[in-house]
Amino acid sequence: MNQRVLLEVGGLIETPTSVITGPSYILWNQSTIEETGAGEYLGDRSLLTVIRRRNRIAMPGLVNTHGHAAMTLFRSAGDDVPLEKWLKEKIYPLERQLTKEAVYWGTQLACWEMLTSGTTCFTDMYFYMNESARAVHESGIRGVLSIGLLGFTEEMQKQGLADSKSHYETWHGAGEGRISVMLGPHAPYTCPPAFLLQITELSQLLDLPMQIHLSETAYEVAESYRQHGTSPIGLMHSLGVLNRPVLAAHCVHVDDKDISLLAAHDVRVAHNPQSNLKLGSGIAPAVKMRQAGITLGLGTDGAASNNNLDMFEELRLAATLHKGVLQDATAITAPEALEMATVSGARAVFRPTGDGTLTAGAVADVVLLNLESPRFLPTYDLVSNIVYSASAEDVTDVFVAGQEVVRKGEPVTLDTEQIRYQIERITRNFERK
Ligand SMILES: [Zn+2]
Repeated sequence: MNQRVLLEVGGLIETPTSVITGPSYILWNQSTIEETGAGEYLGDRSLLTVIRRRNRIAMPGLVNTHGHAAMTLFRSAGDDVPLEKWLKEKIYPLERQLTKEAVYWGTQLACWEMLTSGTTCFTDMYFYMNESARAVHESGIRGVLSIGLLGFTEEMQKQGLADSKSHYETWHGAGEGRISVMLGPHAPYTCPPAFLLQITELSQLLDLPMQIHLSETAYEVAESYRQHGTSPIGLMHSLGVLNRPVLAAHCVHVDDKDISLLAAHDVRVAHNPQSNLKLGSGIAPAVKMRQAGITLGLGTDGAASNNNLDMFEELRLAATLHKGVLQDATAITAPEALEMATVSGARAVFRPTGDGTLTAGAVADVVLLNLESPRFLPTYDLVSNIVYSASAEDVTDVFVAGQEVVRKGEPVTLDTEQIRYQIERITRNFERK
């Protein structure tokens, strides 16, 4: 394939508020978009690879701002229990049985599911992240990766900091920039204040953002008040954690003071509506946070608490859930939901400006949807079709950094038969309660 690719489509979502309905094109050179436009490309075509897909719509790849990729291994292994019980009785005993190999194949499975459902960029926070990074590298997806840091003992803290440093040295910027690294303190209830301070220092030293679970359940917030006399977000503020770039997952139980702290420090929030509903944690005040100027992305969380990695579901849920809660049909509009899943998502995970759009200078992370699907008939409003009507089944082709990674619904970079075999082999041996 030539380095310069001309993709001709039947509709183009440049951004959620800049849409071309009808024949249009994207031209990219290696991994970067050079030009987009309506109608036919009128420049010199002689040195271009031309892909003509007039029965497809091109949209920016979806950004999944929170998850634990290898938890695909625990999909449906412990459902219908609240978070604390779910972690202690279902998930931790399974995680103790994890091996490097299991994480590698679990992450491959996640990449298969995400790429074929239109996600081109995701964040991960887990263990054996070297194996996860290897799977991400091979799959062609864009990944923002963190070692999940738990600070129950001093030994664990020391090891976590050393591992994070070497993870950064090995993987930050790998895959021609497709992989970036963040630091991943798991949560205030698993990382004591002194450890959080050390992680914050390392974040400064390596110039890396951090991602952390914050205020996911009412129990977590009540415990924080009991132990520290303040909310989890108040604690992060008093420790100086919020002076660094931070992506906070969940923020379900936040009050007005928490929201102003998040806004004042430009903390990015990963909103995971489905995971929060399924674990009975609650509903994050997404509209209030958006109104306060906070950058919100959408996330699936791990496949053990969702139970899939389908961002089309999150997109639709984010757009409908808050309408119901607030009894306000304008609460989050279709373009606003799509913005959360693309351009705001990219900002939330600290990708460069332009990511999450199909505009000149942005990375060529492109998803094609089947315009011939019944869900796109008729097309009064392409963005509404995508948010309220489309499903992951409508994704036909995906490009990340200009490279084709999904063709006709099938991954081109992954051996799906091998993944299926390995997942069945590995999970057969797990002991479950
Ligand atoms: Zn999580």
